[in-house]
Amino acid sequence: MTTVAPNRALRPPRTGRSNGQWAVDGREPLNHNETFKAHDNGLNVRERIETVYAREGFDAIPSDDLHGRFRWWGLYTQRKAGIDGGRTAQLEPHELEDKYFMMRVRSDGQALSAEQLRVLGDISTDFARGSADISDRQNIQYHWIAIEDVPEIWRRLEAVGLQTTEACGDTPRGFLGSPVAGIAADEIIDPTPVIREITTRWLGDPELSNLPRKFKTAITGHPSLDVVHEINDVSLVGVVHPELGPGFDLWVGGGLSTAPRLAERIGVFVSEADAPDVWHGVISIFRDYGFRRMRTKARLKFLLAEWGPEKFREVLETEYLGRALPDGPAPQPATGPGDHVGVHRQKDGRFYVGAAPTVGRVGGGVLSGLADLVERTGSDAVRLTAHQKLVVLGVPEDQVDTLVAGLGELGLTTTPSPFRRTTMACTGIEFCKLAIVDTKDTAVAVIAELEERLRGIELDTPISLHVNGCPNSCARIQTADIGLKGLITTTDAGDQVPGFQVHLGGGLASPERDEAGLGRTVRGLKVPAADLADYVERLVRRYAAQRTSAETFAS
Ligand code: SF4
Repeated sequence: MTTVAPNRALRPPRTGRSNGQWAVDGREPLNHNETFKAHDNGLNVRERIETVYAREGFDAIPSDDLHGRFRWWGLYTQRKAGIDGGRTAQLEPHELEDKYFMMRVRSDGQALSAEQLRVLGDISTDFARGSADISDRQNIQYHWIAIEDVPEIWRRLEAVGLQTTEACGDTPRGFLGSPVAGIAADEIIDPTPVIREITTRWLGDPELSNLPRKFKTAITGHPSLDVVHEINDVSLVGVVHPELGPGFDLWVGGGLSTAPRLAERIGVFVSEADAPDVWHGVISIFRDYGFRRMRTKARLKFLLAEWGPEKFREVLETEYLGRALPDGPAPQPATGPGDHVGVHRQKDGRFYVGAAPTVGRVGGGVLSGLADLVERTGSDAVRLTAHQKLVVLGVPEDQVDTLVAGLGELGLTTTPSPFRRTTMACTGIEFCKLAIVDTKDTAVAVIAELEERLRGIELDTPISLHVNGCPNSCARIQTADIGLKGLITTTDAGDQVPGFQVHLGGGLASPERDEAGLGRTVRGLKVPAADLADYVERLVRRYAAQRTSAETFAS
C-alpha cells in the first residue's frame, strides 16, 4: 500500500473573525486580490486583450489586469534582464518587470500530435525568440511574448485544440495526466476519458474561475504512480476495488511552496463514471470553504489540515454529491520511476519511448524537429511528463532505432545519466520576477560536471536533484533527495553571492520508498552556487561509500 509520512502541522487561520470562507463568512472581499476578482472575473480580460491592449500596447494595460487577470489566460510579465537577485526583495514588482510575458500553454495530459507540436514550435520561433520549456506540470512555457502577438498565438493554438485558458491564476490549472494513458500494458485504468470530460465541462467555467488560490489536479491509472499525486490539491489514482473493479482512489490537499503538505487519502472508491462529479465536488468545496483572508493560507491544504479527511468526506458526500461513496483500497506501491524514460512495449505491440531534455529546455527548433520525427517514423504523438521529460507514443517496432537516433540528434537522450534524468529546475532569475538566483543554467552546468566527475560510480537507486530560484517550490524541492532553494549567501571572504539552502531526504511514491516524505532543511548550510558541483559530488560519494544494500538516499 502506498502511504505518506505524517504531515507537520500547518498553522490554521485565526478563529473568531472572518477568514473569508464564502459558505461561512459571506463574500465580502478581505484583501486586494479578492477585491479585483469580485470586481471583474479574470476570464473577462481576454476580450480587452484582443480588442484594446494588443492594439494599444503594453503601456495601455492597467495594473489589476496586467498583474492579476492576465494570469487567467496564462500570462505573467517576465523579469527584466540584468537585475541581480540581491535586489529582488528591494524593488517594486513593476521595477522588476519587462514589457514581455511568459505564456503558459496547458496540455492536460493529452497526446500532442505532430501538427500540434509543429504549431508549438512555430509559435516559439515566430513570437518567443525560440524559447520553450516543458514545465513540471506538463505545460509548455514561452518567454518574450509581446502583447501585440497574443491574439495571433491564441488563434494558432486554438486551431489545433490547445489553449492557455486558466493556465495560471486562482483557477483549475493544467492537469497532470499519465503520460502513458491508454497505451501501457500494465495500466489499471485509462484516465483519458475522465480528464477530457472534466476539462470539456468545466475549464473556463466562470463558476469555478474565482477560487481562493490555484487548484492543481493529477489523474493517473498507471501503477508507476506517475503524476506526483501526493502534492496536488486533488488526485485520482488508479486502484482495483475487490468487488467494483478498476477505478480511482481520491487524494486531497497536497501542496508545496513555503508550507509544504502531502495530500491525504479520503478513503473513497471513485468509479470512472463518478470521477467528474467527485472532482467538481472537491473544487466546489475549495471555492466555498477555502480561506480567502490571507493568500498564504488559502490553498486547499489548510482547509484539509483543519477539517481532516473524515469531515472532508462527509461534506463532499452530503453537501455536494448527495450520496455516499463506497470505501476503497489504497494504491499499491509504485512499480517504476514514473518518468517513463527509455524504450517500453505498449499493449498493442508498438513502443513508447521516453526521452530527457535537460531541465525541461526544448525550444522551438526541438519541438518542430520532434514533429518531423514523429511523422517520419509513423509514430502517434508525444506526451509531456511531470518530470520535465517527454514520451513519444505509438512507435512502430521497426522504427524504434530510427526514433531513438533522431531524438539523440535533437538533444533528447533516451539513456540519460542519473543526474540528467532526475534533475529539475524552475524558471529562475532568467525570467522570474521572484527569483533570487539562476537555476536552469546552473543545473545544466552542475549536471555536466557530475557526469564527468562521477563517471564509474554505480548508483543503483536514482538521486534526484531539484533546483528552485527562491523560497517557493516550483521545482518541488521538498520532494527531492537533494532540494536546493536559491538565496544570497556570504562567502568566507565576505562577498554576497548566489547560493542555495539545502533540503535532504524528500521523495514521492517510487519503488525505492515505502512512503512519500518531505525533505528536511540542513540547518546552517548555505552552498554558494559556484561550489554546488563540489557539494553534490561529496554527498554522492559519501552515500555511495556508506550505503547498505537496503538503504535509499532518504534513509
Ligand atoms: Fe520563480 Fe521561485 Fe517559482 Fe523558481 S521557485 S519559478 S524563482 S517563483
